Amino acid sequence: MNAPYDCLVIGGGPAGLTAAIYLARFRRRLALIDAEESRARMIPLSHNFPAWPEGISGVELLSRLKQHAQRYGVTAIPMTVEHLAANTDGHFTARARDLEIHAKTVLLATGTVDIEPPLPNPQGATRDGYLRYCPVCDAYEVIDRRVAVIGWNDRAVREALFLRTFTAALTLLTLGHEPGFSDPNRENAARAGIAIVAEPIHRIGFEQAQVTSLYGANGKIYRFDAIYAALGCRNRCDLAVALGAEHDAEGGLKVNAHMQTTVPGLYAAGDVVSALNQISVATGQAAIAATAIHNRLRD
Ligand SMILES: Cc1cc2nc3c(=O)[nH]c(=O)nc-3n(C[C@H](O)[C@H](O)[C@H](O)COP(=O)(O)OP(=O)(O)OC[C@H]3O[C@@H](n4cnc5c(N)ncnc54)[C@H](O)[C@@H]3O)c2cc1C
Repeated sequence: MNAPYDCLVIGGGPAGLTAAIYLARFRRRLALIDAEESRARMIPLSHNFPAWPEGISGVELLSRLKQHAQRYGVTAIPMTVEHLAANTDGHFTARARDLEIHAKTVLLATGTVDIEPPLPNPQGATRDGYLRYCPVCDAYEVIDRRVAVIGWNDRAVREALFLRTFTAALTLLTLGHEPGFSDPNRENAARAGIAIVAEPIHRIGFEQAQVTSLYGANGKIYRFDAIYAALGCRNRCDLAVALGAEHDAEGGLKVNAHMQTTVPGLYAAGDVVSALNQISVATGQAAIAATAIHNRLRD
């Protein structure tokens, strides 16, 4: 068996790449495996990542992080880790196709996946900025615009109420689903002047650059400047859960102050952790996790 790596980083988004930079600069021997589906690649232009006053696209940010990691000799292996086992000696063994990797510690930075609304070409609409997922990220950009929120449960009402700080022109679209809003949330929505459209949408069209037209079943056309999907996420926490790591109801991994999961030696950072899904949080958590891993190995 080859000598184990000091750390295996699984996931090469902002969290995994930041951890890789830190670990390499701590002179640790590491492997980075990435399935190349970072949520960040969907960001048309982020305006809330500090030190980029003109904004930065997700693709550009990932490219800069990769260049930064390469400067210290780290290049991601483009594969998906399918299986992770905890060995009796406290180390880990990961399998990706026919590749087997042994590591003293593992940092899971596998992120989360947004549940897409049943509209045509949601990925293209996201990259073009018509469809959004994260009011914390970009509600500032829709001040006083006409905004729709897609969803049929209380999560959608909460997201619409969050957006009320930025615009009064808010509509909840249930796309024909029976609204499952609780009575208090329905009252909150009414009090905030949020309209509810429950009819199915048959077609979506874009006009005048940023205006999105949704064609209702009865021929009515609804026009919005931005549409947010509030259908939740699927956390990519399976590898950790299979080892018995604790998580919250939405699959967010529970970690301690050093970003260690409830499995000794298994750390986590970024969207896969139970916390605010933001680039700044992901990179901050990665810095904490990498430093904790280095200190653990030093001891
Ligand atoms: C449209 C959109 C706009 C956004 N705008 C902003 C913004 O303006 N500001 C902001 O702060 N945040 C924004 N975000 C959120 C931001 O993208 C995430 O918080 C950030 O990407 C989280 O980084 P991460 O490294 O945890 O996960 P990710 O970036 O998702 O990276 C996870 C990586 O792990 C890989 N992976 C998963 N499973 C495996 C496996 N088993 N084996 C190997 N690799 C695996 C994936 O392929 C992926 O490359 C936005 C998100 C979206 C969708």
